[in-house]
Amino acid sequence: MKFNDYVYQRPDMVAFKSEFNRLLADFNKAPDSATQNQIIGQINALRNDVETMFKLVQIRYSIDTSDAFYEAENDFVDEQAPVYEGLVTEYYRALLASPHRADLVEKWGEQLFNLAACLLKTFKPEVLPLLQCENKLASEYRKLTSSAKIEYDGQIYNLQQMAPFMQATERSVRKAAADSYMRFFEQNEVQLDRIYDDMVKVRHDIAVKLGFANFVELGYARLGRTDYDAAMVAGYRQQVLDAVVPLASQLKERQRQRVGVETLKYYDEAFEFVDGNATPKGTAGQLVDAATQMYRELSPETGQFFDFMVAGGLLDLEAKTGKSGGGYCEFINNYRAPFIFANFNGTADDVGTLTHEAGHAFQVYSSRNYALPEYVWPTLEACEIHSMSMEFITWPWMENFFKADTAKFKYSHLAGALTFIPYGVTVDEFQHFVYQNPTASPAERKAAWRAIERKYLPQRDYDGNDLLERGGYWYRQSHIFFNPFYYIDYTLAQVCALQFWHKMSDTARDAAWQDYLNLCRAGGSKPFLTLVALANLENPFIDGTIAAVMQPVSAWLNAFEGQL
Ligand SMILES: [Zn+2]
Repeated sequence: MKFNDYVYQRPDMVAFKSEFNRLLADFNKAPDSATQNQIIGQINALRNDVETMFKLVQIRYSIDTSDAFYEAENDFVDEQAPVYEGLVTEYYRALLASPHRADLVEKWGEQLFNLAACLLKTFKPEVLPLLQCENKLASEYRKLTSSAKIEYDGQIYNLQQMAPFMQATERSVRKAAADSYMRFFEQNEVQLDRIYDDMVKVRHDIAVKLGFANFVELGYARLGRTDYDAAMVAGYRQQVLDAVVPLASQLKERQRQRVGVETLKYYDEAFEFVDGNATPKGTAGQLVDAATQMYRELSPETGQFFDFMVAGGLLDLEAKTGKSGGGYCEFINNYRAPFIFANFNGTADDVGTLTHEAGHAFQVYSSRNYALPEYVWPTLEACEIHSMSMEFITWPWMENFFKADTAKFKYSHLAGALTFIPYGVTVDEFQHFVYQNPTASPAERKAAWRAIERKYLPQRDYDGNDLLERGGYWYRQSHIFFNPFYYIDYTLAQVCALQFWHKMSDTARDAAWQDYLNLCRAGGSKPFLTLVALANLENPFIDGTIAAVMQPVSAWLNAFEGQL
């Protein structure tokens, strides 16, 4: 069955609620764990039905944000998702209070109960209207940024479609494209500030109503982080400052010399080689064919997985007007099917996004038969290990995508993986500032962003662009709006992915692939640091890990630089 044939029908939330509550009442008076286990199965079947419909709406709306039908259904989901989450919270409360809990833990494992305890802290019925308001604000940001019509060189583009011009070989083109891109944010500065300010205030109110001092701890709990806290993350950012920032600055300086500019301006940063960046060779269809062949050669498991994706029409890859930005992978519960969404624009990112999202999709495909929806995906930092590692695991096949540009691609990919980490911690530290200072004005927030940026990205030169100089770069970073505190995850995962890169590049490749498979199959059945250990990876929070991981990366880049 193909994705387009998956039938959407608006779920009857009144019927759902009464059925859910009836099952909960049965659960609470069940005489033994066997009965409770059976009811857990029935509750999860109901949850899967509703989640399937919610996800069909979210995917189809993101494919075309001008589709009036799915826009209305998306409003419905914004309204009803918190109601749904509220009911799930009641189920978690019942799980934790079960007199048969020890037996349930033995059957399902600790992680379900850790997650339940964590998520229980994030909801009370009195915050429901505030959660609905938060969702509406997120949709407002999505609508605003997806509707961007950038006028450039006589044509109209969306934000994503501007990327190739911003990497053009001619500096004046890059600058003009970057100016046009930024003009969208300048024109919408007041509105973006208002949306974000409302979001911060509503999140702070939710946190206070739930008994937290501010949103920080609530943000961590929402992400199901059970085995690290803000203090550990602060220590980790310090490791990045010490071990990665100096290397990133060196790479930027070499880039400056390589592309032959006196100072590397912000619109030069995406431009890496005088004769142009690596670009994929072929249409979206040809890239999918190359990926099909690659995944068949990589392993039987990945071959079967990717064939399933293609046969099911479970990829929507090309940038289109009205399509929401970015890339993601979703899992459609009742069809046991992953879905990959991307915005191909002819840059090397197309291949990066494809292998990245395929990493997520392969993981969820590998763990899709867990009986608990909680165990299909792990927490987000662990999810990003699957995706970011897959980007490196597929290196031996990059010739099929980049032809003569392969060497340039590999260099850019690895150098970019390193320079991304300081940017990622910038986004994270900024959000800690924002939620620890909920009364800060939009101007104060921007000033804080700029100060943090100067610490982690010391070479960044905005060439007098007013909004960027005042600290407006982060408007484009949708995670800051949609998923507070979800960003450090990419850097934690990158530190893990670089370990896979190193292991996969030598004779230990087979063992490393087995570690990767084991990690994917474990899904979300364990918390982050347990998964890290299970995959034989070093813990990024332990002092010294990052410096050790950077060593082979830096050595490879140094050796490669001579050959470029
Ligand atoms: Zn990802």
